[in-house]
Amino acid sequence: MIGGGPAGTTAATLLAQKGWQVTLFERETHPRFHIGESLLPMNLPIFEHLGVLDQVAAAGIKKNAAVFTSPTIKAKPTRFPFANALGESPPHAYQIERSKLDKILFDNSHANGVQTLEQHEVIAVSLASDGIHKLQVRDADNNISAWQCRFVLDASGQQSLISKQQKWRIPNSRHTASAVFAHFSGIPLNQGDGSGDINVYWFDQGWMWFIPLGDELMSVGIVSSPDYLKTRKPSESLCDFLGNTVNKSFAARKRFKNGMQLFPAKAVSNYSYTSSQRSGEGFALIGDAHTFIDPVFSSGVYLAMSGAERVVPLVDHWLQGNRLSYTIARKRYERAMTRAVKAFSWFIYRFTTPQMEYLFQNPRNILGVEQAVVSMLAGDVYKSNSVHLRLLVFKFIFFMAGIFGPAKRRKS
Ligand SMILES: Cc1cc2nc3c(=O)[nH]c(=O)nc-3n(C[C@H](O)[C@H](O)[C@H](O)COP(=O)(O)OP(=O)(O)OC[C@H]3O[C@@H](n4cnc5c(N)ncnc54)[C@H](O)[C@@H]3O)c2cc1C
Repeated sequence: MIGGGPAGTTAATLLAQKGWQVTLFERETHPRFHIGESLLPMNLPIFEHLGVLDQVAAAGIKKNAAVFTSPTIKAKPTRFPFANALGESPPHAYQIERSKLDKILFDNSHANGVQTLEQHEVIAVSLASDGIHKLQVRDADNNISAWQCRFVLDASGQQSLISKQQKWRIPNSRHTASAVFAHFSGIPLNQGDGSGDINVYWFDQGWMWFIPLGDELMSVGIVSSPDYLKTRKPSESLCDFLGNTVNKSFAARKRFKNGMQLFPAKAVSNYSYTSSQRSGEGFALIGDAHTFIDPVFSSGVYLAMSGAERVVPLVDHWLQGNRLSYTIARKRYERAMTRAVKAFSWFIYRFTTPQMEYLFQNPRNILGVEQAVVSMLAGDVYKSNSVHLRLLVFKFIFFMAGIFGPAKRRKS
């Protein structure tokens, strides 16, 4: 296993529980900072499956809803409580510092019998079509060792080790985006039941998130086209750029005014991509190692962990030497991931259009359409069910709004 984030640790634990011998290489040491702190309700059954739900609940804060707000003075926040979802998604999720979540998952892998090696970076993978793959691994003392395995899972996140090595990585031409983010103290929480909600605020060039991680800790980030990031003046620090952008939303500005930044702002640029291949003879890619989509719907950790769950049968069949079942499981895995990524992507590509902003700000539950959108927000994206049908109605309404509805975003 290459990588000890949510994807790698989930697959490693589940495979070890099935009795397979798993070695997990992680180049860093947990706990370590990682962005991506807002989880989805559909993560909860996976935590339960892994046996860590209580630990996650203790370390995180309850997220009952997602809230969306336009940038203008008059805009009212629209709240989508997860309890309103159709289907079987749990009524809440968690917000949690990734240093804490990833350590819980990593330690759990170890407790389940995975050989977990931190400060071990996989620097090269040599894939063999019918037998034993070879890995080169560098440790903290710069020693390089050679390893062999019958199945290799790449969960290396945005490093996309195998995908890059094989030249399978394809930038997403439909959606380029960049982000700037940091943690802050001094930003007030929403009241009562909404204190753990994620707040998403539009601004004219993109959107921003406020994710509460505790009474005195808020993750704040902006997402925009890479061109917008280039408008930063030479004299403007990344931190000031982040603050000045937050101030473009009236509602965000009001909450942000006493915010104190806790570490220098970080930036990630041009980050959406996929991989032309996600699996092959005795290997598979999971999580960000194959696809990264814009984080507006907090889908990354869920896609990583749910993908890891779905890859387990594939590994199982391969190791048992059952090639026919392996081929079928591979197809199933590829189809499931394509479907889930597509379900979120349709909304992501249109999220900053005036009509999407309008529909999110003025939701109507005609034929259960609003509830279906809540289900998508909760992560119910794999099945062809009533949610899927109602989302088709939403898409129709969206196109009609494009013809008859608001043509232009109001300026703040
Ligand atoms: C700006 C931004 C905001 C986001 N917000 C959210 C959010 O709110 N909610 C959400 O769910 N998702 C969010 N995401 C996405 C989320 O961060 C990822 O989708 C998620 O972390 C993917 O998990 P993973 O296990 O695939 O990869 P990672 O979490 O990146 O884990 C990969 C691990 O592999 C290790 N590694 C890498 N290369 C090697 C190597 N060669 N050898 C050994 N180890 C290696 C890394 O150190 C790392 O620990 C956001 C992403 C960005 C960029």
